[in-house]
Amino acid sequence: MIPIFYDTHAHLDYDDYQADFTEVLARAQDAGITKIVSIATDLKSSRRALELAEKHPMIYAAIGWHPSNAHEAPADIRPELRELARHPKAVAIGECGLDYYRLPSTQGGSAADDAAYKRKQAEVFQQQLDVAIETGLHCVIHQRSSFEDLFAQIRPFARQTQGVFHCFGESLERLRMVLDLGWLVSFTGIVTFKNGENIRAAAAAAPMGKFMLETDCPYLAPVPFRGQRCEPAYVKEISETVARVKNCSPDDLSAATCKTAQAFFPKLG
Ligand SMILES: [Zn+2]
Repeated sequence: MIPIFYDTHAHLDYDDYQADFTEVLARAQDAGITKIVSIATDLKSSRRALELAEKHPMIYAAIGWHPSNAHEAPADIRPELRELARHPKAVAIGECGLDYYRLPSTQGGSAADDAAYKRKQAEVFQQQLDVAIETGLHCVIHQRSSFEDLFAQIRPFARQTQGVFHCFGESLERLRMVLDLGWLVSFTGIVTFKNGENIRAAAAAAPMGKFMLETDCPYLAPVPFRGQRCEPAYVKEISETVARVKNCSPDDLSAATCKTAQAFFPKLG
């Protein structure tokens, strides 16, 4: 028996998988990946993720709005999000959060443009925190170059919902801050990169039960596939590196990460 893992963060609704979707799922199953959470980036993508979940028993959906597209969001996404959250395979809200990586001022905009962009991201994020608290679904958190603002925004709600900082790539001090809230982190293929020492250090430091594994596919394919299209089967390579840095057996890592995911995503069967 090969160890079983879940891909807790995949963008299966992207066009990247249209040509060979069946083979992608078959390769995942052959690699021991038995459940995949397809993560949405806006309401349309949320509906596509739910359609995939309806068609394929191994797929589940996170529904939400990515911060990088927040400026395209309607004034209030909560009514539609609440509706979608009722779906039996809607297992989380997200991905949601704050992303300050490409502020308008880096592309010719003004400081006022930056402020408006950040304000809209914070609003769309807050609406998703609201729906998470109302529905009991947890949040898949996207954070880039925005840790301090994001942390300040979640802190008042940290006991009312729970989140996973996906693709965790921050310092050990920030890892401690996240875990102290009772929240989780998850690790992608970056953990296998030659220059991924800081991620391996975070994976080594994160206690069992406090982290999950993910690909964030089609991005971030692990070594030896780095630079190619990523897919859920590659959680296997990610798990091998994480088991090595944690000095645990693949079976122990399998048991711990699957249990963590089942507790975090309440509707993951
Ligand atoms: Zn993602």
